Amino acid sequence: MSQAIGAVRRKIRTRGKAEEVGTRWMAVGAVTFGLGLLLCLTVVLAWLGVSLIVLGIAIILVDIAWLFRVMKHPTEEVACPHCNARNHVLSAEAQFACDHCGRLLERPGHTVPIKPVVTA
Ligand SMILES: [Zn+2]
Repeated sequence: MSQAIGAVRRKIRTRGKAEEVGTRWMAVGAVTFGLGLLLCLTVVLAWLGVSLIVLGIAIILVDIAWLFRVMKHPTEEVACPHCNARNHVLSAEAQFACDHCGRLLERPGHTVPIKPVVTA
């Protein structure tokens, strides 16, 4: 069960999560590019620097292309009942983790198994 929750949290199901991952990769690309630029100044390691610059640019371009694709994806706005944060949920995902508090949520309109309430 906790494994299933982990899988839901890891998978990108909200626009906020996609932006978070996209920003992280953008930083990775920028650092790679910067490192390559620094290595180019050392002349001796310029060959490695050029490779890193190319790699950094490639990471940033792939990241931008991926983000564009995610942003074009239809989303549904779902308010979190726990923290009131608004989540933009991607596609037809029934379950997602709240962008703000990280709690597992069900999208309204999806059939959720009803747990019987046992009264004493
Ligand atoms: Zn929340």
